[in-house]
Amino acid sequence: MANRTVTRTHVASIRNPRQVRDDLDSLGFAASKLWNVARWTVERIWSETGRIPSHAELASYLKSHERYADLNAQSSQRVIQELAEAFKSWYGHRQNGNENANPPAYRKHGDQHPRSTVTFKQDGFKHDPENGRVRLSKGRNLKDGWSDFLLCEYAADPDGTIENVQQVRAVYERGEWRLHFVCRHEVQTDSPGDEVAGIDLGISNFAAVSFGDETVLYPGGALKEDEYWFQKQRAKCDDADSAEADRLNRKRAARRSHFLHAVSKDIVERCAECSVGTIVVGDLAGIRDGEDWGDSGNLDLHGWAFDRFTSMLEYKAEEDGIEVEQVDERGTSKTCSACGTVDGSQRVERGLYVCESCGLVANADCNGAENIRQKVLPNLATDGGRDRDNGCMAQPAVRLFDKSTGRVSPQEQVDGKP
Ligand SMILES: [Zn+2]
Repeated sequence: MANRTVTRTHVASIRNPRQVRDDLDSLGFAASKLWNVARWTVERIWSETGRIPSHAELASYLKSHERYADLNAQSSQRVIQELAEAFKSWYGHRQNGNENANPPAYRKHGDQHPRSTVTFKQDGFKHDPENGRVRLSKGRNLKDGWSDFLLCEYAADPDGTIENVQQVRAVYERGEWRLHFVCRHEVQTDSPGDEVAGIDLGISNFAAVSFGDETVLYPGGALKEDEYWFQKQRAKCDDADSAEADRLNRKRAARRSHFLHAVSKDIVERCAECSVGTIVVGDLAGIRDGEDWGDSGNLDLHGWAFDRFTSMLEYKAEEDGIEVEQVDERGTSKTCSACGTVDGSQRVERGLYVCESCGLVANADCNGAENIRQKVLPNLATDGGRDRDNGCMAQPAVRLFDKSTGRVSPQEQVDGKP
């Protein structure tokens, strides 16, 4: 099996922010100070020699500078490299006649330094994936007696894919530190087969998947219940900017992501088992225009959720050598997937699609998913469709998000029924 290597960045929040905040702040400030020293040095060399020093030259000038030892040597190198690249890019713009381009600025607000991103390369971190921890080294100057590193506990997406870490970046965004793990992934270039699966995304069923001879539903109940619960909790917060409101928002985002990860992961696993080489997913242009939507709160949630979901699906599928295609899903809910009859007055009752021409009785979302699937299978549409057994359309398998395990499992297992 042929493999290809890709680089992917995983963002993780920090579980022990109180313990590491001061240390991360010191490193972030140190990176800004070093940047400024380097910025000043470039200007001096430039005025003396008439040219901008290269990254290597700059590094050799600054190696013995006191600020260089505030960070791990590789982290300091990275700051200088970034500055050199920024100068090179600015110089390029100037050469191309762009008079508006500005040279890289000093990182300072009055007497304050912003918290710059700190990059840790192989020498600068030690990753402990089993316990979700990473040790980040400080520079010689910032070691306080016995401790030359800080220990961050992180919470990542539930993919379990933080491995083969090449770099860790501590990034300060919107008032908190996060870790960006740059990982190397092996992806397969051979696809599991030539089969095609279609996915219809919706509200009560978050996803309906058709494999042609088998259909699967992923109810969106867990997502909706969470949304309802968080809305109620938020309403209890007096101040929308309070720490509690902030905590709830973060928790809600994590719960939503968790659901989307579990569903996308499960779909890709089933597709790989069923020799699927192409997944077709409806793009939501039609839905966003207001077709079949209840209240607008759902639109917000689902617009966001569908975008996130589609991107998760794409990268998970890529790892298994499966392609994801987006097709316009307009009309897919009004067309009979068995005979191709399009009728706006088609009966949809209690989630069932009933075709008056051929007598098909199908789960409405599965019918939609099958229509989406057929968009890349032109020869199967209409005539070919007649010969297939459409029984699976009325009897989809149901796979539920299980809050206790965080995974998606067959309904019987989640409900505990035989
Ligand atoms: Zn029909």
